Amino acid sequence: MLELNGLHAGLRFSSAHIVFGHPTCGVIHGHSYYVDVKLYGERAGKFKFVCDFKIIKKIVKEICDKLDHKLILPKNHEKVYYELRDKTLYFKYENKEYCIPVEDIILLPIPSTTAEDLAVYFANEIADRLKNLGFSNINWIEVSINEGIGQGACYRKYLEVK
Ligand SMILES: [Zn+2]
Repeated sequence: MLELNGLHAGLRFSSAHIVFGHPTCGVIHGHSYYVDVKLYGERAGKFKFVCDFKIIKKIVKEICDKLDHKLILPKNHEKVYYELRDKTLYFKYENKEYCIPVEDIILLPIPSTTAEDLAVYFANEIADRLKNLGFSNINWIEVSINEGIGQGACYRKYLEVK
């Protein structure tokens, strides 16, 4: 098994989000997130690695960079209405309306932007990228999304091993 500690390996991003409907987290606020990753699989290739640290770090760093300094919004939220108005995204949740420049936003294919759903998003993205690079030795990927130090949500995605 291979393990990356996001705090020490520099796998971080600072972003804003909204947990729509939550009494305290339902307003726009931010976190300094860091991402821990575990890969479990058979050691393979010339160096008998589960996966070269360089490769998995680059993958996770690229995903972090996509989210960094953006307002993260959930494309699949069942109660948020979105409308693109030129270079501005209008969105509405119950009686709250927002207009934010599109360049300030990243819209992710998840139902909410809780740490739980961000962990699912990261695990799916990492799985896709490893698959595209030809990896077939990974049994599972575990991602912890930490909203600051000491609290995080973890998700484990099982992969098909050939
Ligand atoms: Zn939050």
